[in-house]
Amino acid sequence: METLVAGRACGECQVCCITPQIDTPDIRKTSGVACRNLTGTGCAIHTTRPAVCRGFYCGWRILESLPDDWRPDRCGVFVLLDQTMDLPVQFRLRTAVILALVGNPLKTVRQRWFQDYVGRSVLAGVPLFLSVPPRNGNQMARVMLNTSTMRDAAASRMAARIKDELEKALKAVALYPPMKYVPVHGGPDMDGAG
Ligand code: SF4
Ligand code: SF4
Repeated sequence: METLVAGRACGECQVCCITPQIDTPDIRKTSGVACRNLTGTGCAIHTTRPAVCRGFYCGWRILESLPDDWRPDRCGVFVLLDQTMDLPVQFRLRTAVILALVGNPLKTVRQRWFQDYVGRSVLAGVPLFLSVPPRNGNQMARVMLNTSTMRDAAASRMAARIKDELEKALKAVALYPPMKYVPVHGGPDMDGAG
């Protein structure tokens, strides 16, 4: 069980029940499609929800370093932590931080609060990725933000330079050819029926 940041609660947020691919024997859903158990008021099987749901928390619930007002449904950034990624050896931190833009991606990368976080994190050596979650069952494309040009922009402390780098990263994500996710567990929900 992860240690959660005190004072942060999911509230009405449902991003993790809609945005990611879930591919387990209990819950199978495509990316960008609401789980079939999601109702207007939340999870219909909340008390008996499977382990994959019980054990999941987004980065905002776990990372003290994220601002309090970064609840995913409110700020448009769904932070995912990935300990399985094969990161370059120079990173002391072995958990990748993926910033999945679930709101208006271009608007988000033009926000000063987002640029400040990216600049701080890149300078601190956090393995950082930018992603725009797919809405149609494709795999999630992502690009690494720890580039030399981003580090230079962050070191300059000029928000406009960080914004330019983020806009370039966003274009690079968009250029990724769509790759269909191949589910391990079959079932009707994998067809996008939710
Ligand atoms: S995305 Fe994060 S804040 Fe939102 S419901 Fe899931 S765990 Fe809670
Ligand atoms: S079972 Fe409930 S908690 Fe799990 S993804 Fe579906 S709606 Fe969300």
